[in-house]
Amino acid sequence: MDRTLAVTSRKPKELPCWSYCGSEGPDHWGQLHSDWKACAEGQEQSPIALSGGEVEPTVECLALHYQPTIGRLSDNVYAVRVDMEPGSRLLLGDRTFSLRQFHFHTPGEHLWSDSAEAGELHLVHVTDSGEIAVLGIPLRPDAEQAFPDSFWDWLQAAKAGEPLTLDPTGLIPRQSRFVGYRGSLTMPPCTEGVNWLLAMEPMTLGSAEQRWLEQQKGRNARPVQPLGNRTVHTVLQEGS
Ligand SMILES: [Zn+2]
Repeated sequence: MDRTLAVTSRKPKELPCWSYCGSEGPDHWGQLHSDWKACAEGQEQSPIALSGGEVEPTVECLALHYQPTIGRLSDNVYAVRVDMEPGSRLLLGDRTFSLRQFHFHTPGEHLWSDSAEAGELHLVHVTDSGEIAVLGIPLRPDAEQAFPDSFWDWLQAAKAGEPLTLDPTGLIPRQSRFVGYRGSLTMPPCTEGVNWLLAMEPMTLGSAEQRWLEQQKGRNARPVQPLGNRTVHTVLQEGS
């Protein structure tokens, strides 16, 4: 068999290009690919506006079992992203999620009090059966708590694939309250059934770091989606 032919006939499935503006922007994601219909037709999409909404007394219990783990800068096109080796876990009720990656959006995606934050950090966790939980942290220039300086130094100098031993605990605000709701991925394929957990305390995003993130990937925030019949509930963190 002609080896060249065998290789070219197994061309990987190509996904369409998408973006945050114009004819490939958020309003068109649902039409760009048959697997992305949820972006247009889903009833439980993310992000949402949390302004003025009632928070249900229903409580979920959250525990973060994070530990120093190797992270590697990803070559992802749409966000500055760090892929994490297994080791850090998030417990939500009786389910265990493993931290897979975290990434940045500028500006922020969820709206608090109708105004966009400077940025938003998303920590993405997955169970063995593929269920997703995303922890969202608002980023503001004047927040009281900051990421370790060494983190920004590494991130801005790193090349894709370069490893760093990183304790994700330093990325999460201490003594924060959290709220939760059922939503989706905020990028195509906009998969639903995502457990969203949002910190109410921000972390610092300095103007230099914000500019750097925007220079890397441009502005990468999806507009807010209708809340519909969903509710936002309180999440209690173990030990707080
Ligand atoms: Zn995200």
